[in-house]
Amino acid sequence: MISPQHHDIVVIGAGIAGATIANELLARGQTVCIIDAAPHPASACSSHAYAIAHPHVGRGAPRLLRLTRIAFLMAEARWGKTWNQHGIFQPTKKDKVFKVEEVTEYLKTLELGVDMAQALNANEAKQVCGIQQSGIWLPRGASLNLSAATNDALKPHPQLTCCWNTSVSRLEQIGAGWQLLNHQDEPIMIAGKVIIAAALESKNLAASMGVRLPLRPVRGQLSIFSVLAHDAWAEKLPRTAISGDGYCLPARRLSGGAYEWIVGSSFDEGETDLQDWASSDGFNREQAKGLLNYVEGDTSHLHKAGSFVGVRCVAGDRLPIIGALTQRPGIFLATALGSRGVLWSALAAKLITAQVLEDDFALLARLGFAADLVAALAPARFFAGTLAAAPALGALASNSKPILPSAPRAR
Ligand SMILES: Cc1cc2nc3c(=O)[nH]c(=O)nc-3n(C[C@H](O)[C@H](O)[C@H](O)COP(=O)(O)OP(=O)(O)OC[C@H]3O[C@@H](n4cnc5c(N)ncnc54)[C@H](O)[C@@H]3O)c2cc1C
Repeated sequence: MISPQHHDIVVIGAGIAGATIANELLARGQTVCIIDAAPHPASACSSHAYAIAHPHVGRGAPRLLRLTRIAFLMAEARWGKTWNQHGIFQPTKKDKVFKVEEVTEYLKTLELGVDMAQALNANEAKQVCGIQQSGIWLPRGASLNLSAATNDALKPHPQLTCCWNTSVSRLEQIGAGWQLLNHQDEPIMIAGKVIIAAALESKNLAASMGVRLPLRPVRGQLSIFSVLAHDAWAEKLPRTAISGDGYCLPARRLSGGAYEWIVGSSFDEGETDLQDWASSDGFNREQAKGLLNYVEGDTSHLHKAGSFVGVRCVAGDRLPIIGALTQRPGIFLATALGSRGVLWSALAAKLITAQVLEDDFALLARLGFAADLVAALAPARFFAGTLAAAPALGALASNSKPILPSAPRAR
């Protein structure tokens, strides 16, 4: 029998997470094998073409603020021509009083310059981004076609091997490495280091090594609406993205004169159905009214022109799981990207690469990546006796006291 091929670094999952990590490792001179059950990259949740990205600016989640700011800067620097900067407006919640001075002061405390976030009253917002509502304007907010970015990250490279149509069923430790087996329990390959970026399937793969991950599915549907040129909605359509209860992209004028407008998304906890649901479009129509503060808008004039349905993978505490699985040496996880695939994949690429290559973490630390943030993302945060994580953190936190992971809260 021929012995299975050996690869130093194998990435399981060719969505935006796995592709971005593989791309970073290639850029660092490594040889990488990426393996996916599908026949091509970005077949699952990362087939999404309309993902928005901005740093979190809400109150009461200091770690999420720091993490999303670092991740946003990494994302912005990473995707070059695929990055579509159009700005994102975050309207004030309807039940909240908005005081420009107060919010401006708050944004200053976050050390967010005006290039990043500005508090605007309704009239200012109308002038700056065409939306007659008070809120926070994020001029650098952008959207990314995840499918294009994933494909671009995996374009042919002499040190990249892609194995399509290859589903990994379980992992087994063999010597200093790991054997990947298929559903017939036949060996696929042997790897020195394995990065599991298989979204929800990461749960089964971790379970095959005796590790339980608290992952669950949250289905989501974006609706692509068509609005006729002379319709009352046409005057209201935004020329920027809006992120509030749901989100929408800038409306796009089509050659025939009508507008295409993408609005989302539903949030169906525990659901994995990839079928298009009329009820989700109904939900998105209501979100559309809310985003534009257009209560009298007749939603029947938002004509369905298409949709995107995906299943997000979410962890119990809503933060991604990114880092070394310290109790299984050589295994790394990048999963539970939730609704922030753009930001967390950019961050995962840097963090996982640093851990896989056992880098000097000084560069990450300079980007603001302190030990408590690494701990907030580490798989170890879910396990009892998380002292197992301490050696890995020690590498990053060599100048600080060891910090025990806690369970941060995030939306
Ligand atoms: C409606 C909706 C709206 C969203 N909006 C945004 C947004 O605005 N901004 C944003 O940043 N994010 C958004 N997201 C989230 C974003 O799409 C995801 O976070 C991201 O695509 C997840 O990427 P991934 O690589 O982790 O997973 P996936 O893209 O699902 O990739 C996982 C890959 O692993 C492979 N795989 C699985 N099991 C195995 C196995 N056993 N063996 C081999 N391969 C395997 C699969 O084939 C797949 O290719 C949205 C999601 C939805 C559903």
